[in-house]
Amino acid sequence: MTTDTPTPDAPATESLSIVIPMYNEEDNVAPLLARVHEGLAGYAGPWELILVDDGSTDATVARLRDEARRYGSHVRVVTLQRNFGQTAAMQAGIDHARGTVVAMLDGDLQNDPVDIPRMVARLVAEDLDMVAGWRKNRQDNLWLRKVPSRIANRLIARITGVHLHDYGCSLKVFRGDVIRDVRLYGEMHRFIPAWVASLTSPARIKEMVVNHHARRFGESKYGLSRVYRVLLDLLSVYFFMRFRARPGHFFGRIGLVFGAIGGVALTWLLGVKLFLGEDIGTRPLLLVGILFVVMAVQFLTTGVLSELLTRTYFESGTTRSYTVRPPRGEQPEPGWKQPAGRAARA
Ligand code: UDP
Ligand code: MG
Repeated sequence: MTTDTPTPDAPATESLSIVIPMYNEEDNVAPLLARVHEGLAGYAGPWELILVDDGSTDATVARLRDEARRYGSHVRVVTLQRNFGQTAAMQAGIDHARGTVVAMLDGDLQNDPVDIPRMVARLVAEDLDMVAGWRKNRQDNLWLRKVPSRIANRLIARITGVHLHDYGCSLKVFRGDVIRDVRLYGEMHRFIPAWVASLTSPARIKEMVVNHHARRFGESKYGLSRVYRVLLDLLSVYFFMRFRARPGHFFGRIGLVFGAIGGVALTWLLGVKLFLGEDIGTRPLLLVGILFVVMAVQFLTTGVLSELLTRTYFESGTTRSYTVRPPRGEQPEPGWKQPAGRAARA
């Protein structure tokens, strides 16, 4: 085999939930379900497929329901009331997932479900918390998609300290207990590895080369506006990864710098006035000094306020400042697609 990592000897038998968000993907429904079943045919554990319809306005829901009926109770359809966006749809899927392992991928057949068993096997064999797909041979437009994505990946890796080649690849496999602790909203789905790394050790996040295909049906839901969205989200990821529990340090640092500059300027002017007896009332430096001191006060008080908010947040009783590593390998409840061999024996 020519995979980037050797496939472990023992196949994984963890209960697996596969989560797929779908928004106006009517022509992808049937081939996607066929491909998932093809790809998972050899999976040695029980699995379920959770298809989240994100308020589609075409025939996606009807087709999802038809296909779910055809394949059986391990295929579950979650229909959202309206289009909430990819991140929310993924969260809805995670909320319905019962597996000890959760796999996520796109519903447009750009990701290949065939990769999932391999990724799960590695997750279990190496006791990882997340395995991300790397679309090494990516089938998208070079200048519109691949180049901006490469720059973004470098930036995200540097800022978050999680070194992956491909943050944007939706095909990812997680420990259920870890991904359930991450709350996804806004457009956070592009930074899931970073949020996961804030709950577990970055050493337990690895990547694997996966297949990638060009979109055959339907169209991409995002345009070039993705660039500014990523930049803004990067800023908040940076802030939350470093200063979530001590925002006062972030604002305080800026406040202290401004305060120091303003303080030096005003002290200088005071010296000029006292010792040289010059008139300082019309000097631009006076205005600059006062402005910097005022800004310093603003930043420092913002810092204190943010610390107050952090206290409310952590002392509300629902939020912990740590995460515990739970025991692995619980048994699943009924309602799973049992592997062919095991069902025959039962
Ligand atoms: N998607 C969704 N809700 C949205 C936009 C997208 O559920 O509001 C789904 C979409 O159906 C697809 C996946 O998210 O399964 C990725 O979307 P897309 O292929 O448009 O993104 P790209 O591959 O261009 O990043
Ligand atoms: Mg796509």
